[in-house]
Amino acid sequence: MIPAADLPQASHFIDGEWVEDRAGTPIPVIYPATGEVIATFHAATPALVERAIASARRAQRDWAALRPVERGRILRRAADLIRERNHALSVLETLDTGKPLSETLVADATSGADALEYFGGLAGTLGGETIPAAGGDFIYTLREPLGVCVGIGAWNYPTQIACWKAAPALVCGNAMVFKPSEVTPMGALMVAGILHEAGLPAGVFNVVQGLGEVGGALVADPRVAKVSLTGSVPTGRRVYAAAAAGMKHVTMELGGKSPLVIFEDADLDSAVSGAIMGNFYSSGQVCSNGTRVFVQRPLREAFLARLGERLKGAVIGDPMDPATTFGPMANERQLGIVLDYVAKGIAEGARLVHGGHRLNRPGFWIEPTVFADVTDDMTIAREEIFGPVLSVLDFDSESEVLARANATDYGLAAGVFTRDMARAHRMAAGFEAGTCFVNAYNLTPVEGPFGAVKQSGVGRENSRLALDHYSQMKSVYVGMGPFSAQF
Ligand code: NDP
Repeated sequence: MIPAADLPQASHFIDGEWVEDRAGTPIPVIYPATGEVIATFHAATPALVERAIASARRAQRDWAALRPVERGRILRRAADLIRERNHALSVLETLDTGKPLSETLVADATSGADALEYFGGLAGTLGGETIPAAGGDFIYTLREPLGVCVGIGAWNYPTQIACWKAAPALVCGNAMVFKPSEVTPMGALMVAGILHEAGLPAGVFNVVQGLGEVGGALVADPRVAKVSLTGSVPTGRRVYAAAAAGMKHVTMELGGKSPLVIFEDADLDSAVSGAIMGNFYSSGQVCSNGTRVFVQRPLREAFLARLGERLKGAVIGDPMDPATTFGPMANERQLGIVLDYVAKGIAEGARLVHGGHRLNRPGFWIEPTVFADVTDDMTIAREEIFGPVLSVLDFDSESEVLARANATDYGLAAGVFTRDMARAHRMAAGFEAGTCFVNAYNLTPVEGPFGAVKQSGVGRENSRLALDHYSQMKSVYVGMGPFSAQF
């Protein structure tokens, strides 16, 4: 189905080469739609982790010495190669994650290519500024890379996450060692192979497989200057603390329990689309999902009725069939977690109005699930489920819903649907969230900053702002006249 050249050639990509070492713990790749093992990779041994960091360190200085436009050209070439091979990469992403091809063809490799193209295009703008000082003196700033950066990915968007981290890191002149989630080891390897095909020097982007312990070893290494993690809040806390011990820079893209507020004047079909997009795309495995859907009371029944009708249109089936619009969970453990949350929702008194059951077929399938009559204190309204479970909560007034929307330790995303644009902007200003949506949901093109406040993370990915998170400014004061001291 996929040409051999478009498959990973080994478990790791280090110093410009595919590397295998069967001494590492086996990592089975399970196709979530069937539960079948389709490949076996191996975790990196300590010797391979060392090789990856050493090669990144060695390669970084020469890479940083290139003109930024030369670095950018390589990233843009990689973006072109990714687009040319989008179909094969999308099939691989579907095998890795179980997400339907109808999604992966448009959302994964393509958004990775966007990031490489965007940051490659910004290369020529990298630079500093000149600031006047007293007596004709001046200060100039030099934008310098951080050095060796570590990227650690989650399993929902393996190709996109690798590109979102690699593109700004590399364009700034850093080298990177990337560790994918052990659930989805393939996408980042393909990104590494393509970057090298596009001309990236050996050692600048390396991929090593492994579980948390490999990630831990990378984060603890004193040669590493920065850690960028996409993962859960508990992992984020551990990784942030380990990075702090070495005074390393961090970007933390973590979990959420985001509010999606629908006022009674909203365009009903758009609002229902927002709720579907923000809960069922990628079978709900999206960090920024609007899983607390607050619906103004007079609209509630109409909203639930329309949502129910639209859910009948979900095509649940073979992810490789382009007509399929809803796939399985990415792994069995996560399916179990989601089913436990559904049971808790029922036990705590929420009204199950759609789905809720595991499908009777091989693989990790659960129906799109909707609860109504959810209250703020219920577990399903407080904790990140990371699955296709939508909770509908009722509200009466704007001030009430804003306070309730913000009453969470998470702060990744928030959305509002209303025709009253003044109210929409008041809500956007009031949301305690890093990424907000007005009459839309979960659209995160590379041109816009993406990130969180509160426990959902620190730093920003995408947009020009990401450059600041992968570089540091050196300040140079230049004296133009005689220099004097106090005695
Ligand atoms: P985890 O937090 O379980 O894992 C994330 C990554 O961290 C994995 O590669 C994991 O390795 C690694 N890891 C685990 N422990 C350590 C450690 N001590 N040191 C270094 N690395 C470690 O997240 P999931 O993979 O389960 O992904 C789901 C979570 O990610 C959800 O909370 C979701 O909201 C969040 N997420 C956030 C996004 C954002 O941009 N804000 C986007 C996508 C997801 P391994 O699993 O291989 O052991």
